Amino acid sequence: MISVAEAKSIIFQQTTVLGMETLELVHAFDRSLGEDVFSDIDMPPFHRSMMDGYAVRSADVLNAPVTLRNVGFIAAGDFPEFRIHAGETAKIMTGAPLPLGADSVREVELVESGAEENSVVILQATKPGLHVVEKASEIARGQLVLSAGTMINSAVSGVLATVGKPSVVVHRKPTVAILSTGDELIPPSENPVQGQIRNSNSYTLHAMCKRFGLECTLLGIVKDQRQLLEEKIFEGLRADLLLITGGVSMGDLDFVRDIFKKLELEIFFEKVKIKPGKPTVFAKHKNGLVFGLPGNPVSSSTVFEVLVRPAILKMMGRIAPENTLVVSETTDVFYNRSNRENYHPGITSYKNEHFFTRPLKTKGSGDIAGFAKHNSLLICPPEVIELPAGSSCKVHLCDNYFS
Ligand code: AMP
Ligand code: MG
Repeated sequence: MISVAEAKSIIFQQTTVLGMETLELVHAFDRSLGEDVFSDIDMPPFHRSMMDGYAVRSADVLNAPVTLRNVGFIAAGDFPEFRIHAGETAKIMTGAPLPLGADSVREVELVESGAEENSVVILQATKPGLHVVEKASEIARGQLVLSAGTMINSAVSGVLATVGKPSVVVHRKPTVAILSTGDELIPPSENPVQGQIRNSNSYTLHAMCKRFGLECTLLGIVKDQRQLLEEKIFEGLRADLLLITGGVSMGDLDFVRDIFKKLELEIFFEKVKIKPGKPTVFAKHKNGLVFGLPGNPVSSSTVFEVLVRPAILKMMGRIAPENTLVVSETTDVFYNRSNRENYHPGITSYKNEHFFTRPLKTKGSGDIAGFAKHNSLLICPPEVIELPAGSSCKVHLCDNYFS
């Protein structure tokens, strides 16, 4: 049985970044850039006023209050062809280019009308550069502004627009197929009769994939019968990522691993020292990755968070396809009743500059309602049997922490 760290490392090595496609900028949100992006312009492209005010020569207003002659008006979008000479000023709006000769801006609040027509009184001295953003000081033409692999978030979208990228080369997102196995399973629309339970895993995993905007095919429920299972798994191999739940333990009807072998998938591991989620199978097929996740709902969700999520991020071309871990403090005692690395559901909050995590009192890996309260996973190393209240611990923040 391999450790969580070894499992992560194997998955990372075996996961290949998907190819590229070109998308319009408005559709590229949340993708990873497939190429380095260089600027085709200087930003700002001219010396830009940061204020609504008066463009002045700082040398003229050293002994403010000083009366200057107003020789023009410059709005954003104008390009002044004139020069400010000694004793002159021009009214300027935020975002407008400075006229030649001016080196600073005095905001309107510190300027009054003068006694003569077209004269103004500058009430306070300026210094060179005051309230001016120098040409090319933010971005220089030809400069590398975004590296390949950068995630296109809202701020990055703005940069791409600024440097003239109405369409961008991005990495493809994986297509996902989700298959639930088990003779006991029925769809949510049906009423369970004796021995039956409703399939929840497909919906949980589907929602988790939707967080990344992935296109998911729900392959539904398949019975624990070799032939049916083989057909469905074969169908699922068309996706870049196939997630199967159930049928990976040691039961007489747990055929998933046998079928992986029959279909000649390359199996990298079949058990991980993680609680919950020990019977996790990771395999590869020429078209993509296959995870056999344990059927217990808490286990399959946990393994998705810890092991599948980084694989999805890597496929999508993220620079750092890692989970978000923080150091937190336990608010209650936690007992680790296993010799595996324990990922226990918790509620984490941030108060007084510290993270605090309350381990949830759930009723095990089938307790889907108890688990639904979590926003994080408290990580307890295998060798630690008790974390008293107030202990420092590592915590994995789940996506629902952020929403
Ligand atoms: P298995 O891994 O197939 O042995 O299943 C372990 C436990 O998880 C059993 O109690 C199953 O009934 C339950 N289980 C398996 N698949 C699902 C599913 N899709 N939705 C909800 N529970 C499931
Ligand atoms: Mg089963």
